[in-house]
Amino acid sequence: METWKKFDADGLTHSATHHLLAIEELGRQYGGWARVSDIARHLGITRGSVSISLGPLKERGLVEVDEHRMVKLSPQAQTMVDEVLAKREALERFLSQVLGLTPEQASVDSCKIEHLISPRAAERLVQFMKFIAGGDPAARELVQRFRQYEGDCPTDGNCAVCQGKCLLARLAEVPGAG
Ligand SMILES: [Zn+2]
Ligand SMILES: [Zn+2]
Repeated sequence: METWKKFDADGLTHSATHHLLAIEELGRQYGGWARVSDIARHLGITRGSVSISLGPLKERGLVEVDEHRMVKLSPQAQTMVDEVLAKREALERFLSQVLGLTPEQASVDSCKIEHLISPRAAERLVQFMKFIAGGDPAARELVQRFRQYEGDCPTDGNCAVCQGKCLLARLAEVPGAG
């Protein structure tokens, strides 16, 4: 199956992921249990839409809902949340410390990627961050030198990276991009 279809079939949507993240965060002080109204406030949406989102999560065995409308993550959902949070952390560090994005932009972009990136890619990313933080001076120098680097795409479209669809030239044409 094509990759983008596979995510709809067995992955979580971005919205569903953030419901689970909210339940985890709010439940920390109450033995894992979170109130529907608190989840709604936390996500800035109505209680009605939280309830609608909880339906399929309950069906998939990812959340428990008790008679007082309190919600708790299943062990499987807790594992998924922990994984997303670890991916977010590694992505934020990579985007800010290596690519040089502002913390705000790094946080926005890692939020978009955190639930989609594969375990293998995330694992290699964590290893890369450990590599550059480790004792190898060449690794540290690579990052320092890259942070100073501002390359350009050649105007003749003959670019080794972009294969004729030069991104840097494209972004330069869009006002406000970058
Ligand atoms: Zn997100
Ligand atoms: Zn290029």
